[in-house]
Amino acid sequence: MDIEKHIAVVKDFPKKGIIFKDISPIFLNPNAFSQLIDELAASVRDLGATKIFAAEARGFLFGAPLSIKLGLPLVPVRKKGKLPRETVEVSYGLEYGTDTLCVHCQDVQPQDKILIFDDILATGGTAKAMCSLAEKLGAEVAGCAFIMELSFLKGRERLNGVEVRSMLIE
Ligand code: IMP
Repeated sequence: MDIEKHIAVVKDFPKKGIIFKDISPIFLNPNAFSQLIDELAASVRDLGATKIFAAEARGFLFGAPLSIKLGLPLVPVRKKGKLPRETVEVSYGLEYGTDTLCVHCQDVQPQDKILIFDDILATGGTAKAMCSLAEKLGAEVAGCAFIMELSFLKGRERLNGVEVRSMLIE
């Protein structure tokens, strides 16, 4: 499908000089959204994942239907302080400061092969941190999947050694 048709390009958001890719128009078109999930599922099925990690917050919106389509359990990856049970956490650098991502320890077993999912791959910091969460819990990373990859930010290089699947590479 032509995903680009459903992405709005917003200049100077969240700050001057950034060209933001807004993927949310796809949610206004349930047929296109359904087709996107079918194609996303088809593009990652061969990775043999046993669970999906989806990143807060847009990652949840795609990760939930993807988990139903693939018949795989979904593990929410959230910012610190949001998950009620025991968590494992990983901090990673942002342009200014750091951020911390967490998952519930109980949700992952060492024999799991995790599909890391997020809507957009930019610098790769978020996806790399999600890979570290899986590894901290003794699981394997089956691969990383994204709706869109901003290749000029070289996130794929940061995920060196991990299989990366992007539906749209810009
Ligand atoms: P990274 O950690 O630099 O790879 O950034 C990826 C995270 O930032 C993802 O969770 C994305 O949702 C978000 N992000 C980065 N750039 C954009 C964009 O242009 N549009 C929407 N989300 C973005």
